[in-house]
Amino acid sequence: MSSRRRSPITCPVCGGQLRHRQIRPLGAVTADLGWELHAGECPQHGWFQAEVISRPPREIFPVSQPGGIVRAFTVGGKKQYCFPTVYSRQDPLETPDPYDPAFWAVDWERLPSGTVAF
Ligand SMILES: [Zn+2]
Repeated sequence: MSSRRRSPITCPVCGGQLRHRQIRPLGAVTADLGWELHAGECPQHGWFQAEVISRPPREIFPVSQPGGIVRAFTVGGKKQYCFPTVYSRQDPLETPDPYDPAFWAVDWERLPSGTVAF
């Protein structure tokens, strides 16, 4: 896994491209598993980030800034603190390409509100 690649992260709310996209290597969890922080800013919805440890992330978090605190994001009138990804439904024994954008898509059915409103 190379940190020179471009992060597949997009805005979990509108699906739009994020500006200031970045990948911060956070070191190694073990000798084999690199830990990366992916972040980017939606002009409308603010900063989002996800942690990648050799697999696609299970959640994307709304944050105050890259590496900052998680903020609440209101979806369908309810506060959310994370957006589950499609990967969170996958068999954990499978290890797809962590940069495959298909796994980064938000799994809206897993949000308690079940609906998108913005
Ligand atoms: Zn957005």
